[in-house]
Amino acid sequence: MVVDYESIRHNARLLREKLAPGVRMMACVKAYAYGHGTVETARALLDEGIEELCVATVEEGCFLRASGIHAPILVLGAFPLEAADALVEHDLMATVFAASHVAALARAGRAQGIYPKVHLKVDTGMTRLGVRSEEELLDIAQMCIAQGLIIAGVYTHFAFADEALDATFTDCQLATFQRIVSRLRASGIEPGVVHAANSAGILRGPSYHLDMVRPGIALYGYHPAPQWGQAVALRPALSVFARIVRIAEVPAGTSVGYGCAHICTRASRIATLPIGYADGIPRAAGRGAQVRVGEFAAPIVGRVCMDQLMIDVTGSAARVGDVAQVYGADTGRAGSLQATADVLETISYELLCRLSPRLPRVVA
Ligand code: PLP
Repeated sequence: MVVDYESIRHNARLLREKLAPGVRMMACVKAYAYGHGTVETARALLDEGIEELCVATVEEGCFLRASGIHAPILVLGAFPLEAADALVEHDLMATVFAASHVAALARAGRAQGIYPKVHLKVDTGMTRLGVRSEEELLDIAQMCIAQGLIIAGVYTHFAFADEALDATFTDCQLATFQRIVSRLRASGIEPGVVHAANSAGILRGPSYHLDMVRPGIALYGYHPAPQWGQAVALRPALSVFARIVRIAEVPAGTSVGYGCAHICTRASRIATLPIGYADGIPRAAGRGAQVRVGEFAAPIVGRVCMDQLMIDVTGSAARVGDVAQVYGADTGRAGSLQATADVLETISYELLCRLSPRLPRVVA
């Protein structure tokens, strides 16, 4: 895998241009920074002036701290109560939406002599995490204050920002969120940094940006909804390559791989690449995905194995030792990661996050 961190920085600059002065950016580096390497990505983004980071789990946050990252870090997921001590010890901001969260953090804070910082989460339409009403938010906020927690922020997450061009649902979420936050303010409680927008929210426009935005996928070069067309010139930062280790010249009727799932309909040249589903390539990629060997688009054939996959290079000049581009950064061409995501009816996010840390990572 080759990662070009300059592309990630470029994407961060493009997104920054969309923001009004003073709007903060919290980069989403969860899931191994969408496959790009957590620490290297975090460093590149912090160098670029990104103010804060967010991750999904306490472990991901602790890993960043252990790697010498001192920027503010928000843990987006619901933390296990027994992880409260680690959250406080590593100065990680927790997402809070239940009385049990407040109690666990308050206890950990008292034990360590620290006022833990938290972001309150409001569920405005994802039905995933968060409080669902003004009253609940007010209750939790008052509990936080009473028990010595610092409310560093209040946030929500858009459910529909990346699919429909129509913004009705997102607008409804935003209006609900703003109403709830105003009520908090009216009760004399400062919400801290108010945030909602993921990449799609950022691209939709300034009314969604509020005090801070939380981009993920756009930083890595992918449009959250490719069907919108490329509104900004994002640069995919990652490519995956593998070298052909064997080519078999086989007659028509030869079966390929587990379950004999592919039968050659003609005399064929079947090449083997040493990369498989343990590296993150979906097992079903043989249902239409292609890789590129030079300019030749070679279909993946049969079922992807754990550590290998086979491609049909019939009619090409491919030779053992040639490099195949398994996931290209050149969106729009056969063999690009986006093309494969489209063929497999998934999203760039999933293919990126599946990439295994076992794949050697080279910096471009
Ligand atoms: N905020 C939250 C709460 C998320 O769960 C995610 C990603 O799933 C993001 C921000 C970043 O979203 P995206 O990658 O679509 O920009």
